[in-house]
Amino acid sequence: MNQENKIAIVTGGASGIGFAIAKKFTKENIITIVIGRDQSKLDSAKKELGELCIPISFDLNDLVSIPSLVKDIETKYGKIDILVNNAGINFKKEFIEVSDEDFQRILHTNVSAVFTLSREVSKGMLRNVNGCIINISSMASQYGIPKVIAYTASKSAIEGMTRAMAVELSPLGIRVNCIAPGFIATEMSAKALNNDPERKNKVLSRTPMGKLGDPSDVAEAAYYFAGDAAKYVTGVVLPVDGGNSIGF
Ligand code: NDP
Repeated sequence: MNQENKIAIVTGGASGIGFAIAKKFTKENIITIVIGRDQSKLDSAKKELGELCIPISFDLNDLVSIPSLVKDIETKYGKIDILVNNAGINFKKEFIEVSDEDFQRILHTNVSAVFTLSREVSKGMLRNVNGCIINISSMASQYGIPKVIAYTASKSAIEGMTRAMAVELSPLGIRVNCIAPGFIATEMSAKALNNDPERKNKVLSRTPMGKLGDPSDVAEAAYYFAGDAAKYVTGVVLPVDGGNSIGF
């Protein structure tokens, strides 16, 4: 590590889209702290990404421990330049079958953890008058998708929070943006689509580019938001979706 290295946190960075973001960041010399719960996934991410990847095993549902997690990282690495709130969970069930517990579980991980981690990381970014936060929403916040009520509520909240955070934090040096991925080939989308050919056909038929995206497509957008190329960009939601959000 040297003074030139930027420090990033990528939640859920050991798999899928988060892993692709961590791969891009480490390739670009950014020290990337990858947070997840599954130690074996963290170990293989570290093995593949090398010394600039710092895996941390942590359950983001443990909100009360987030402040000390952030303090520990700041003590060790001096600062946090970039936060990518990528970790998320999906839950597919018909609206009337979703229990209060199911609903709260999704909101807890996808919204409350994003709020608490962003608040804590922002404190240090404000001291440095520098920082960049990137949130990840979904097509579920662009149009109606059946059987994902809690996920839709959570991802719609993420887009609103992106704008609310951007107006408060941007005057103080922190840019906040959001990527709305379309359907990207990962474990999560495989679970949602592979046993549901009708849904998969619907996805592909309304995606003008006619295919699922690659996690690296989202990683390129995250790298853009994280860097100086986006120094006048804040509060936006960028679909990376092969046209899915505007498709017929
Ligand atoms: P994956 O299921 O592959 O990755 C999700 C990651 O989040 C995992 O690495 C998981 O780590 C981590 N995670 C989940 N809960 C927690 C937790 N409580 N604490 C710490 N880490 C956690 O999904 P994707 O890569 O597909 O999704 C990444 C993001 O992109 C999500 O926010 C998702 O909603 C969004 N998205 C994905 C789309 C797609 O088509 N794939 C489309 C639109 C949005 P671990 O297993 O170790 O807990």
